[in-house]
Order: sequence, then C-alpha cells, then structure tokens
Amino acid sequence: MPYQGLIHRYGPYLNLPAHTQIVSLLEGNTPLVPLPGLARELNCELFVKFEGLNPTGSFKDRGMTAAISEALGRRVKTVICASTGNTAASAAAYAARAGLRCIVLIPEGKVATGKLAGAIAYGAEVIQIQGSFDDALTLVVEITQKTPIALVNSINPYRIEGQKTSPFEICDEFGSAPDWLCLPVGNAGNITSYWAGFKQYQKGLPRILGVQAEGAAPLVLGRPVEKPETIATAIRIGKPARGEQALEAAHESNGKIIAVSDAQILDAQRILASEGLWVEPASAAGLAGLIAETGSDRIEAKGRRVVIVCTGHGMKDPSIITESFEIPQVIPADYQTLFDMIGG
Ligand SMILES: *Cc1c(COP(=O)(O)O)cnc(C)c1O
Repeated sequence: MPYQGLIHRYGPYLNLPAHTQIVSLLEGNTPLVPLPGLARELNCELFVKFEGLNPTGSFKDRGMTAAISEALGRRVKTVICASTGNTAASAAAYAARAGLRCIVLIPEGKVATGKLAGAIAYGAEVIQIQGSFDDALTLVVEITQKTPIALVNSINPYRIEGQKTSPFEICDEFGSAPDWLCLPVGNAGNITSYWAGFKQYQKGLPRILGVQAEGAAPLVLGRPVEKPETIATAIRIGKPARGEQALEAAHESNGKIIAVSDAQILDAQRILASEGLWVEPASAAGLAGLIAETGSDRIEAKGRRVVIVCTGHGMKDPSIITESFEIPQVIPADYQTLFDMIGG
C-alpha cells in the first residue's frame, strides 16, 4: 500500500481524539543516514535521522499533521503560532492543506529567509513582533485563551503525539532504540516527544544528549535567559515551554543537557556537509554536543550506536553560508581562463 503519512501509519499509538480528521502531506518516514567517516573517528556507529527531508523541511511537520488534523476535526477556522521559523512554515502548509486561516507571530528580523518565505508562500498571515520568540508565545497563548483560535505551538499536546513518530521509526528500522540520541533543544517539545515515544514503544531506551546554544541555554544555566542570542535561530529561546520535561527526559534517560558555542555548531554544520548532509545551524547542535562530549570522554560512545537528530534542512537558512563565505570568483566565459584557473 502506498505511504499515507504518519497518522495513518502510527495512529493506534497516538493519543488523538475521535473527531480527528487527517490532514497529511506524507510527512515522516525520513532516512537514517550513516556517517561512516565520522563514525570511524569517534569509534561508534553513527546515524543521522534527517528530519530536514520532511515536506516543509523540518521535523515540525510530524507534530503539525496531528495538531491541524485535530483542529480541523473540531471545526476550528483559524490557527495561530509563535515561531522561530520552522513552526510557521509547517503550520502554514498544513493549514493551507486543510483550508484553515493561519496566523504566525515571529520575532522581528530574527527568522531565517527560507522559513519566512515558506510561511508566506503557503499563504499564512505573518506578523513580526518587536520582541523575542518567548514574547510571541506569551501573546499567542493569551489570544487562544480568549478566542476560538487554536494554538499549534508545541504546548498543544497533539504536536507531542505526532512527534513521537520519529522514535517509533528509529525503533522500527533498527529493531531497538539506539544507545544515545543527540538532539538540539529549543522550546523542548521535541526532546519531550522523543522520550515519551521511546518509553511508549518499549523497544529499549536511549540515553539522551540534549544540546542548547551557549547564548540560549536556560536549561543548562538553570534560569530563563532574557535576551537569548545564537546563530542557531531555531533554538534561540530563553524560556522553554517544556523545560521541566526536557530536564526530566535527560535525567530519567541517564543522559544530560549541555551547551555548545556557535563556533562549535558551525563546525558541526561543516562536518555534516562534508559527508553530504546540509542542515541548518540548530540542526547541527546535536553533533556539536556529541563531539564535545566524546572528545573529553564524558560520554562513552565507543562501540555504541548513536543517532543524531538533524531537525531541519540547510536550505532553510542559506544566508548563514552565503554571508560568511567568499563570493565565488568571476571569470570571463573563456576556456583557457577556466583551464588555467582549475588545472587538469
Ligand atoms: C523547532 C526546532 C528545534 C527545537 O525544537 P524544540 O522542540 O523547540 O526543542 C530545533 N531545530 C530546528 C530546525 C527546529 O525547527
């Protein structure tokens, strides 16, 4: 039977109400790509769960199929979210598919081009606010409490239900959970979903390494960050909505949450690209964390199976590359000039 999307595939494992009316873009079913080069260096088995290959380029589609399907079944007319970008693009796409009005609030000037373009392309009404993601989230929570507009941020429990499907897929492919799972942590919906999913599926439990950016590391510092700063805009969050659950997941799994610098994140992005995977900066945080921890032997990866969750595609944030690299050289359209330049 052709693939029909996540709710169709994993419906019995997802706690969705009976009124749910499936809206799908055939999300999920993403590959576990091996990283043989780096695996040799780190002396472990290493795979990337490449979530950038979802329909709108990030893992957000897993939760969004569930949240929009529930909202549509409940006859909601309008959905709203606060977003650092990927939630906006995903909500916009699924709302368009469902014929719903979609409003997104983003922090002014802090959203990567590919994400903003996506939200607009899918027809969402995009509003920039003079404040942070956390301010935007406070606003959308208030408006959804006072009006019939539905909230599709990861506070929405159906988002978490949908996002549990990634650990299900990993267990189905390997036959069991990996030893370690490394992933970025922003608003902490995803780490919460992975832990809930692994626990529910009962195919073993990984240790979880959650990774924040140094300038936006409330869970490492143990307090909110008023003005979070990092090039990894998808995790530029100072007050994670599911922070407690993230800390619990790390603790219960015998894992941890750490912070890495922007430079470490960009290094990890380059390493992934050198193995043929271009991911957005936030998505490289999991690998940056793994490298930081294995380099110092603080986590024992040797001989273990490690999965790095790469949450979003590099094409979402092209300017991080184009702004920091030299503009390609310009030459006349002339064979000899070309030959002299690149050699044989
Ligand atoms: C949303 C997002 C994250 C952070 O996920 P949380 O569930 O907010 O912790 C990380 N990377 C990318 C690419 C994202 O879009």
